[in-house]
This record gives sequence, structure tokens and C-alpha cells, in this order.
Amino acid sequence: MTRLLRLVIATGNAHKTAEIRRILGDLVSSVEDLSAYPEIGEIEETGETFEENASIKALSVSRVLGESTWVLSDDSGLEVDALGGHPGVYSARYAGAGASDAENREKLLEQMQQTDSGEQSRDARFRCVMVLARGAEKVTVFEGSVEGSIAETEKGERGFGYDSLFIPDGYCETFGELSGEVKNSMSHRGRALEQFKRWIAGKVAG
Ligand code: IMP
Repeated sequence: MTRLLRLVIATGNAHKTAEIRRILGDLVSSVEDLSAYPEIGEIEETGETFEENASIKALSVSRVLGESTWVLSDDSGLEVDALGGHPGVYSARYAGAGASDAENREKLLEQMQQTDSGEQSRDARFRCVMVLARGAEKVTVFEGSVEGSIAETEKGERGFGYDSLFIPDGYCETFGELSGEVKNSMSHRGRALEQFKRWIAGKVAG
């Protein structure tokens, strides 16, 4: 397969970068993230949708890195039906600015309990929007989602964020229990990156 791009992921989240590296394999010759560019600092996510935040991150980084570097952002989160789609774009800071993944999961379970009315739906989905940018211009957008439900208690040590609470449809285990390979084959991020791979293939063919 063609090794096409040097790519910078507009994230400081090492878990996201590790998943993206693994999913892209040797399709991309180098994948860095913002840990290689400490001068860029924290990017404020002021958008109200995943796409707005993904655009803010991709364009902020692309402005600094210029024309020669492809930048891919990942804005993602968990939408829970019983919570009216929350935490959504606030997934990383659900329990407050700077909250840990464990604090966010604890808050999610608390909120589920508070809204629990017996027949309460625990339906939820992870969503991911990725924006590809170069030279401070948005090139294209990729999206992916995975449907599932929220577990009653945390299960599994793998992954990050809400993985130990999310049971994908068709499985009994959470993403925290399933292998990285299985998660990546169906996850919101994996699906968005399938589109990215098709986009690269189209560029090579064209
Ligand atoms: P972002 O940096 O604003 O995109 O925040 C994404 C947040 O959504 C993360 O900090 C996690 O809490 C959650 N999240 C996104 N993707 C995943 C995933 O694959 N597994 C678990 N949690 C995720």
C-alpha cells in the first residue's frame, strides 16, 4: 500500500494518537501529535458541535505548521439518549474543567442513576469528527459513529475515557474489555479513519 503522508494529529491525547497510529498502520509514513509541538499549547474548544471543534483544532494547528504539513484533528465524545445527548462535545470535561477520565465516568453513572425510571433506555453512541487541513485551509471532513449502551458498572481496564462503560451493539463486553483490534474495527474513530483511507486511495488513484 502507498505510504502517502506525513501527518500531525491535532491532539494532545496520547490514547487517540495511539489508536490512530494503529489503525493507519504503514499507510502514513509518520504520525506525530502535539506532544512534538509544545509551542502550540492548549487549544480552546469553543464550538458547540463536534465538527466546529474539530475545525478549530485542525485550523489552529495548520496555521502554525503551514503548507507543507497535513493536519488531522479528532473531536469525539459520547452521546447518551437518557441524558439528552450529553455529555457530547463536553465529554472530556463532563465533571468539570481538568476532570480525569475516572471522574467523568463517575459523573456519568451518577447522572444515569438520577434519571433512572425503571425502563430507562441506556442507549448511547460514540461519535468522531475528523477535519483534514493543510495551509490553514479545511480540506475535507470524515465522520464515524458506533451505537451501543451504557453498562451499569465499569468493566475492563483497556482503552481510555468512557471505554469501560460502553457496550457496543452486538457484544456483551465493554470497549474496556474488548481488544484494541476489535474496538478499532468498529469504533467511531475506526470508521472515520476508514473514510480517510478511502480519501487517500482516491488521491492515489486520481
Ligand atoms: P475531545 O478531546 O474534546 O475530542 O474529547 C474527547 C473525549 O471523549 C475524551 O476525553 C473521552 O472522554 C471521550 N472519548 C472520545 N473517544 C473515546 C473513545 O474511543 N473511548 C472512550 N472515550 C472516548
